[in-house]
Amino acid sequence: MGKTKLYVSCRLENVDNLRLPGDDDWYFILQCGNCGMNTDTEVYFNPVEEIEMEGSRGSANYIAKCKSCERKGSISFIKTAPYLMKDNEEPQMIAEFECRGWELAEFCPKGGYICQSTESETVFDDVDLQEGDWAEYDDEGDVPVGIYDFKGYFE
Ligand SMILES: [Zn+2]
Repeated sequence: MGKTKLYVSCRLENVDNLRLPGDDDWYFILQCGNCGMNTDTEVYFNPVEEIEMEGSRGSANYIAKCKSCERKGSISFIKTAPYLMKDNEEPQMIAEFECRGWELAEFCPKGGYICQSTESETVFDDVDLQEGDWAEYDDEGDVPVGIYDFKGYFE
């Protein structure tokens, strides 16, 4: 049981306010805190869907049994933060989780991320960061936009 923070780092070209929509799914590989096995596929959960825990012990955003040792664990979002990166060197925290029985092993940036051009009002709302890089052109601001070397890690 513990609190885990997810940090991301990347280089932003003419965009900021990078974030996932508030109700979108977040994807992870998890590791069982009991037997150490990783989930064999990505699992996902999101901040707005809460599952009641048995015995009225509150709720969590993700509850599942380990396929290997069958120990049940849960994960809850404590908070999420938009990725308002100004300085491209500094990693920033984008979410904090309460983990019980599961550890976050790998962040899989699936889903349609959102970011905004710094040179116009243009919003890009289907940014795919699975490969770590994304590039487009902002016609209104007349600048190239991009996100490069997107990486997540936990602390
Ligand atoms: Zn296990």
